[in-house]
Amino acid sequence: MAALYRCQPLKSSNKIQERRRTHRPGLFQTKQIHGRSLAGFDTIPGVSQTHHDVIIIGAGGAGMFCASRAAFRGRTALVIDHARKLGGKILISGGGRCNFTNLGATSNQYVSQNPHFCKSAMARFSPWDFIELINKHGIAYHEKKLGQQFCNESAQQIVDLLKSECDESGARIQLNTQIRSIQQLSTDRGQARFQVGTSEDTYTCESLVIATGGLSIPKIGATGFGYDVAKQFGLKLVPTRAALDGFTLSRRDAEAFGDLAGLSVDTVTTTNGISFRENVLFTHAGLSGPATLQASLHWNKGDKVVFNLLPELDAFEWFVSKKKAKSNSLVKNHLAEHFPARLAERFYEIYFPSAAQFAQTGISNVPDAALKEFSQHLHAWTLVPSGTVGYSKAEVTRGGVDTNELSSKTMECKKVPGLYFIGEVVDVTGWLGGYNFQWAWASAAAAAAAV
Ligand SMILES: Cc1cc2nc3c(=O)[nH]c(=O)nc-3n(C[C@H](O)[C@H](O)[C@H](O)COP(=O)(O)OP(=O)(O)OC[C@H]3O[C@@H](n4cnc5c(N)ncnc54)[C@H](O)[C@@H]3O)c2cc1C
Repeated sequence: MAALYRCQPLKSSNKIQERRRTHRPGLFQTKQIHGRSLAGFDTIPGVSQTHHDVIIIGAGGAGMFCASRAAFRGRTALVIDHARKLGGKILISGGGRCNFTNLGATSNQYVSQNPHFCKSAMARFSPWDFIELINKHGIAYHEKKLGQQFCNESAQQIVDLLKSECDESGARIQLNTQIRSIQQLSTDRGQARFQVGTSEDTYTCESLVIATGGLSIPKIGATGFGYDVAKQFGLKLVPTRAALDGFTLSRRDAEAFGDLAGLSVDTVTTTNGISFRENVLFTHAGLSGPATLQASLHWNKGDKVVFNLLPELDAFEWFVSKKKAKSNSLVKNHLAEHFPARLAERFYEIYFPSAAQFAQTGISNVPDAALKEFSQHLHAWTLVPSGTVGYSKAEVTRGGVDTNELSSKTMECKKVPGLYFIGEVVDVTGWLGGYNFQWAWASAAAAAAAV
């Protein structure tokens, strides 16, 4: 990236000026405003330089949380974001109620090239630590299932909590600001280690935190900015891909199941040896719903996904029991007692052996072998998805900044002192269920204690 400024060594006595910045686009007013311009740089005439101890790029959950915690430690903190609206991703999370943490969160629910990386930060900032904050702000919440904590009212309450923590601590948030350049300054320039050129001003800081998230949902401001910064500083990246996402199907499977869109069924869904008991939702393009989203995190192109569509039942035993009871109902009608009727009909058409031969035959006259084969399809419906829907719908981005480049204690780059990466931009991706926000809080807290 082209640098906007030529830097000169700082004079021994830096002239620190308090400077109140008001009426700027997207600048939130806070109780204390920490901004101080730094002498010692040749600047473009008419453009001021503003120094903060910490600059955080990205005002999502990780960025705002890091800013407030750093500011509570007495650090001057500025969060910069190009979005017009604060916390866009939080607002759409958890169906509008934000699943802000999971009480069962451990490193086991995260996917990363280094599964141990997240342990230190997670141990030092637990789900209960975030709940303490939820209580401080009087937010009513409930557990939906499996440790997942949601706001009773609205995800807006989480955005308000983070904004209010920034206000209380004195951290500033500046929206609607494009980042033009990032430059590392040489170490003999006192506390200023980085210079950030933006559409509004040029800033310097001692610590620079990248909290720009992943590529998911570009229409609310997601970009690959964090990865570009990593590349600029020569850091390795783990290849990214859309995750917690729906599956698209081959043309043949889409034709077979596409008109079932809207039907949902309880399953145990397995891919690559990892299973989830969740619902699958049929869509026009393929499959969605929590089971599919979970599976997508562990799925690689070409892998099979296996769905047990009757996890509570041994289908063969149940069919045999109907047979013994001398039922004259068709197999598909018995299946419809456990499935939506349209789904039962479709599976019967496709997977029932010799469907035509037994089309009008009551279950008591169907051979056990045919019932067994059909049951196997119901307990292990196997598909090879053609892909996932992609970043336009995916909840997260898997991959990102290689954890080998970062300290697991502080999130600081080993090669670039003062540069930190937190939240989703890092190669740590949680399961569905509040784990990704817990990583955002924990990694932010780890960096905030060090910046
Ligand atoms: C539909 C949906 C629902 C979800 N629900 C949940 C849930 O209920 N529970 C859960 O745990 N997780 C959920 N997630 C995942 C969760 O939202 C993310 O993992 C989390 O928000 C990541 O936080 P972050 O701060 O790292 O990144 P983000 O929240 O993505 O914030 C990044 C910020 O950086 C800014 N930015 C990006 N590029 C630039 C740039 N070039 N210049 C300046 N600023 C930039 C963005 O505008 C954004 O404000 C959901 C995700 C989606 C998409």
